[in-house]
Amino acid sequence: MEIIIHRGTKEIGGSCVELIINKKRLLIDIGLPLDYDSWSDEEKVDYENKMSSIIQKADAIFLSHYHQDHTGLLNLVPDRTPIYLSDPTIRAIIIPEMFFGDVFKGFNFIPIYHRKVITEIEGVRIIPYRVDHSAFGAMAFLIEDLKLNKTILYTGDIRLHGLSKTSYLSLKQNVDYMLLEGTNIGRESNAIIKSEQQVFENFVNIFNSYPSHLNYVWASSLNIDRINLLYDACEETNKILAVDFFTMNILKSMYKHHNVPYGSSNRYIRCFYPNYLTSYIKRIQHRDYLINCVHWCKVSKTEIKENPSKYVVMIRPSMIEDLKYIDASNANYITSIWKEYEKDEKYRPFFEYIESKGYNKFYNHTSGHAFEEGLQELNRYLKPKTIIPIHTQEASKYKDIFPDSNILQLSDGEKTIL
Ligand SMILES: [Zn+2]
Repeated sequence: MEIIIHRGTKEIGGSCVELIINKKRLLIDIGLPLDYDSWSDEEKVDYENKMSSIIQKADAIFLSHYHQDHTGLLNLVPDRTPIYLSDPTIRAIIIPEMFFGDVFKGFNFIPIYHRKVITEIEGVRIIPYRVDHSAFGAMAFLIEDLKLNKTILYTGDIRLHGLSKTSYLSLKQNVDYMLLEGTNIGRESNAIIKSEQQVFENFVNIFNSYPSHLNYVWASSLNIDRINLLYDACEETNKILAVDFFTMNILKSMYKHHNVPYGSSNRYIRCFYPNYLTSYIKRIQHRDYLINCVHWCKVSKTEIKENPSKYVVMIRPSMIEDLKYIDASNANYITSIWKEYEKDEKYRPFFEYIESKGYNKFYNHTSGHAFEEGLQELNRYLKPKTIIPIHTQEASKYKDIFPDSNILQLSDGEKTIL
């Protein structure tokens, strides 16, 4: 079998791996680079042209999870090409598209399930495995070349400190090659919070320490595990979690098949309607249903304003007008996403407002990626014959972190026979 890592051997994001097995071309992840927004138009066109010709030739595409740095080139995929991805990944792609997309392109999505073997590609066997990551429904892939009897495991983004931290135990051991992500290699020093469990405990402590305060939490609408845990913290402290109707639509789309807080049995969650998003949706024709379908569990901002201590409100900086309307005199503000996002210049008015109100500020987040000790544990348990670094800025450090392992360091675009 042959491998080409088109992108990802020396950076975090933009992941795209091509495997050529039995003359079939398989692509695993088709991501955009993380700094793509800062590229010039010319650079973007060049890159899309280059990636488009690679994607057009693919016989099948496998997506590990829905983050943009793994799926951002989806629009370049021809209608007929089969795209294998998990059910939560499909929903997490479709719902934002229903809100913010122009015309939703038809895709040949094929849902995959934990350990359900994919045999449609001649000469190849692929087994998806559920893994722990900040994207709900994230998968690793085991790819077997049946003719050469070779195995390769693509971890995708993975960690060992989230809500399903033991899921790595079901991965295949002793594979010939393991494509191993290394996001946190070389950048761990500022990681203080080491597990989702600790994030949960911090939420509970903050809510209990300020019983008369309103709590605002900035978390990603697509980080379902974090929302689950925030919901649990609300239940524990007898508060109600208010999420906007975009987030509620995401939860609604998943609740029948997955354990997410939505529905009449979940008493501690309500839906509110932020000004900006509500008027945006109302301006677009035929999308009122996105507002109406979750209206049954609505809480008004006036209710939150009048009973601030009862609520934990999940927000984003774009909701600054809603915060001004609620105008809480005592509140906590908690960042529960990657801290670097706070530095974005466009969020400055939001943080100035938080500052001007004298709200208590907290940071409560843990990484979606394994720390170095997690990667070592993964390697100790799985015992791959060779590790191939990917999704890392520090490929050269793999040999220090895994001193007893074979490391095969590849370059972007280089074709290698395995
Ligand atoms: Zn990811």
